[in-house]
Amino acid sequence: MANNYVYTLDGKAYINLTNKCGNACSFCIRNTGDGVKDVALWLEREPQSADEVLTAFDKIAPTLKSDEVVFCGFGEPTEALEILKAVARRLKASGYKTRLNTNGLGNLVNGKNIAAELKGLIDVASVSLNNYNAQKYLEITSSVYGLRAFPAVVEFAEQCKAQGIDTVFTVVDTIGAQDIARCRELCESLSIPLRVREYVADNYKNEQGV
Ligand code: SF4
Repeated sequence: MANNYVYTLDGKAYINLTNKCGNACSFCIRNTGDGVKDVALWLEREPQSADEVLTAFDKIAPTLKSDEVVFCGFGEPTEALEILKAVARRLKASGYKTRLNTNGLGNLVNGKNIAAELKGLIDVASVSLNNYNAQKYLEITSSVYGLRAFPAVVEFAEQCKAQGIDTVFTVVDTIGAQDIARCRELCESLSIPLRVREYVADNYKNEQGV
């Protein structure tokens, strides 16, 4: 275990805020390793302040080849909402673009509509849809929120879109062509784009696409 709050892949910065996640997805990279490439992502100690994260970011900033910073990591970033917002605020003020890779459960985690709080701080929200209905979602994710999870994910994405955040859903191609087609129908009805990610066991490739 280590405390890699910030790591880079191909010159892009990724922010790793927490180990916590309310899902246990069948395809999660946490099932097959402890990190991405040679970077350990399980945190021995989660950051207690934005400053801790930003200090780590400032060290790697001169090496970056991309102006996009991704909140991603091994847990769900919205589990650390206040630190996420504070870090994003500083990054935006410094001219970076921000992307949030999320399971979309942030409203349930925090007990409120967090999309409004992310406005102006997050440019792109990439939300894991996983499948097209609550039962199918639960089968993949084993979410602690049970059947409440899927409608909350959809609602969160709609709220992000309404806040002007560039919002996209993702699914992993292992769900099969029929379910992907149903997901496409749902996404079209919501006017939110869908990106189908190829499942690859290689953590490095997976993490880049999360
Ligand atoms: S939501 Fe993301 S971090 Fe959580 S179990 Fe699923 S894939 Fe892993």
